[in-house]
Amino acid sequence: MVHAEGDERAVWRLLAPGVFVAQVPSLKLNVTAVAGAEGFVLVDTGSYERETRGLLAGLSDVLDEHGLPDRAVMVVNTHGHFDHCYGNAEVLRRHPEALVLGHEGLPRYLARYGEEGRADAVSYGMPAEDMAAVRIVPPNRLLAVGGAHRVDLGGVEVQVYAPGRGHTGCDLVVRVPSADVLIAGDLLEESAPPSYGPDSFPAEWPATLARVLRPPAGLIVPGHGAVVDHAFALRQMEYVEARRAAPPEAPPSQ
Ligand SMILES: [Zn+2]
Repeated sequence: MVHAEGDERAVWRLLAPGVFVAQVPSLKLNVTAVAGAEGFVLVDTGSYERETRGLLAGLSDVLDEHGLPDRAVMVVNTHGHFDHCYGNAEVLRRHPEALVLGHEGLPRYLARYGEEGRADAVSYGMPAEDMAAVRIVPPNRLLAVGGAHRVDLGGVEVQVYAPGRGHTGCDLVVRVPSADVLIAGDLLEESAPPSYGPDSFPAEWPATLARVLRPPAGLIVPGHGAVVDHAFALRQMEYVEARRAAPPEAPPSQ
């Protein structure tokens, strides 16, 4: 049987102890799994069902190679854009017991912008049929701004923070202290400059990023592109600082 591109098993690589990263070729999107003896936390879920199925199939392989259980304890959505959370339904189909953690504003954001996101995805090259079939599933566990959520996966602790507004009003970041890894979502990007949209908060982004970068992490997984270091993140902070006063394309809508 010939499989379409989105059916392919994603290639995952071990970034640091307990931390695996897969890059989805189309947008150089990074999807990260933090795994321990109790299961894994998946950070972001891809754009549509077939893509997410390929991500989960590849993850299953790499977890098996490392003797780790193929059990999702939790999903984290770093924000509400299609590439980061429209795979939630497929993850839950395969792992119905998983919590889906998002910013407290994310259900409202998805109710307001979810359909626009579906259209955006097609304009970014996602297959129209696949995007039409997506069931947009909001998180079932919410994190308030300034809040933290910790999960012990058995020797590997995952910390999720809601650091404030920047790329969107619903940004979350993830830290894995034992591996010295920060997963920054689209507050940082490597393959393109940080992305500003009508749902961005340019004036607040620099301070949010400053909070995210304390303390410095050895390895930083940006939303898109190659893994970076703290020096790269500081340079990108200068970029968002310079754009602090630049008006967004349309008034912030939340
Ligand atoms: Zn993105």
